[in-house]
This record gives sequence, structure tokens and C-alpha cells, in this order.
Amino acid sequence: MTVSPALVDPYGRHVSYLRVSVTDRCDFRCTYCMAEDMTFLPKRDLLSLEELDRLCTAFVEQGVRKIRLTGGEPLVRKGIMTLVESLSRHLKSGAMEELTLTTNGSQLARFAGDLAQHGVKRINVSVDTLDPDKFRRITRWGDLGKVMDGIRAAQAAGLAIKINAVALKGFNDHEIPEMIHWCHGEGMDLTVIETMPMGDIEGDRTDQYLPISVLRAQLRDRFTLEDIPYKTGGPARYVRVKETGGRLGFITPLTHNFCESCNRVRLTCTGTLYMCLGQDDAADLRTPLRASDGNELVNAAIAEAIARKPKGHDFIIDRRHNKPAVARHMSLTGG
Ligand code: SAM
Repeated sequence: MTVSPALVDPYGRHVSYLRVSVTDRCDFRCTYCMAEDMTFLPKRDLLSLEELDRLCTAFVEQGVRKIRLTGGEPLVRKGIMTLVESLSRHLKSGAMEELTLTTNGSQLARFAGDLAQHGVKRINVSVDTLDPDKFRRITRWGDLGKVMDGIRAAQAAGLAIKINAVALKGFNDHEIPEMIHWCHGEGMDLTVIETMPMGDIEGDRTDQYLPISVLRAQLRDRFTLEDIPYKTGGPARYVRVKETGGRLGFITPLTHNFCESCNRVRLTCTGTLYMCLGQDDAADLRTPLRASDGNELVNAAIAEAIARKPKGHDFIIDRRHNKPAVARHMSLTGG
């Protein structure tokens, strides 16, 4: 494969990380993410797994080094392991550094072994609470026991795991110390994320929004947090928790946006490319992909899209701004 010159946006940022939402469907309905009654994309609009592979490969050929599969729930997309397996050729060739996945863990017990076999080394699993009743409430449909089985299977398969928890005021803020002890005791990193105003969720996000700055101050009463330069290529800033020796990440799109170092673009399962999680501008890659068997058209469309990557997002959550910043749900573009 020939790797052509890198994708660089107008602000000099090198786009080296592609997140791919392989389906907008999910077997959970997390209350901060989706409405209970969601209308999903018609199946006929979806790219096939072969088309997704073609698009990912076009990005790899233009210097993308890391791909994260997400969703919706990536492990509910039928045949998803075919895509994982075919993308793993870019790991073997050295064209790509990392293939990874963000999952709710519900199907991990089934797929952990295959993921490891196809070169996946690290995964993110989303767990917002360790209380089975609260877990059911926040996910509406989720079974914490199944997720824990999935996490154990992933550990047994040798996958490194980072737990992602969305910080939700009055829901899990008091549980974060317990989650720190659990994650670090199991050799897993933990990252807490501020809730982002994306899509209508049948409720007011102001009630749930917990600034990480507030959470960090609360945690400092219990733990010694030492800043460390650790980076995974994503937006989290990490500290080492002295008492546990483990890593704790913070993703703060609202209290401190991290757009100046953004290296990411996001592809949906219909071939729409979003150049920013928090902006509406998008590029259609499906039409150029389907217009020819070669990659000239699609490469030109990618280059044109990167040239429009915006400087950043401007998420705000307060009583005056309680409408979503973007209409689409996180489940469309993935986390
Ligand atoms: N189904 C997979 C999962 O649960 O991880 C992947 C998709 S999910 C949309 C990716 C991540 O986004 C999850 O960690 C989820 O908690 C987070 N998320 C969803 N909606 C969010 C929002 N409005 N603000 C912040 N994080 C959100």
C-alpha cells in the first residue's frame, strides 16, 4: 500500500485518528445518550462492511494511524468481526498503529477472543455505575452482570481495558471513588466524561451536568491526583491516583475544550464524515465511494472535507442553553 502525504487541516492539525460508527443501533438506551423511542437509520442507507473497509483503507492510505470502531453498539452490527479481521491487515503491514473499539460490553463475552486474535489490544468499555439497579435505570435495558462477564472475558483474552463513565450529577458522582478502587484493583484505567449536549433525550441536561472541575475538587479530598503526561491519542488528560497507583482520565469538552490538539474525524455507518463532534458540517463520502471502483473521487472528497475541519466546538450547558448543540445523538457519530 502507498501511504500518501498526511491529512492536515487549515489549523495545522494532522488528522491521524478515525472513529467509525458502524451502526447507530444499540441494545441499551442510556438516558443521557438516546431517547427511549429512537428512530434508527433505514438499513438500506447503511454502508456494507466491504464499503466501510474501503473507506477506512482510503483513510489509512492517507496517513490515518488509528481507527476506533464505535456506534451505537459496534458489537451488535451483524458480521462486525469480518470488518475487524479485514482491517487487521493494516496492523500487520504496519500502515496502522492501532485498531480499537468502544463498547457497552453486553456482547463482549462472545467477541473478546476474536478481537484479541485480530490484533485489538485495548478497548474502552462504558460503565456508569456498579450498582445493578442503577445500571438498569441509566441504560434502561442493560444487565450489569452480562457486562461484567464481558469485562472478565476481555481480561482473560489479554485485552487492556479502560472504563468510561459519564459523570452525572446526583447519579454517580458519589460512586466515582468506588469506581476508582474497582478499576485500579482490576488493572484497568478509568476515564470520566462530561455529558455533552447532543440530541434530544426527553429531559433537561442541566439537571445531569456535572463539571469535571467540581468532581476533581471532590476527589482531591480523598485522593492525591498527580498530573502525568500519559496520552492515548484521544482527548483525555490523565492523572495518577497515588493511593491506588492507577490512571484516571478526564474528558472535559465543556469546562476545558481540547480542540486545539484534535486529531480526529468521525465516519458514520452511512458514509457521512463529521469533521467535529460538536458541529453540524459534514461531508458525504458514500456518493464518491459508490461512483467508481477507484479511490480518486473518495480521496478528493476526504481532502476537501479535511480542508473544512472547524477550529472547534462550543458546547455549553446551562439554563439558558438547554437545547442540544447539535441535533444528532452521540449514537450516530459514536463517542
Ligand atoms: N455503545 C458503545 C458504548 O456504550 O460505549 C459505543 C457508543 S457510545 C455513544 C460511546 C460513549 O459515548 C459511551 O461511553 C457513552 O457513555 C458516551 N456518551 C453517549 N452520549 C453522551 C453524551 N451526551 N455526553 C457524553 N458522553 C456520552
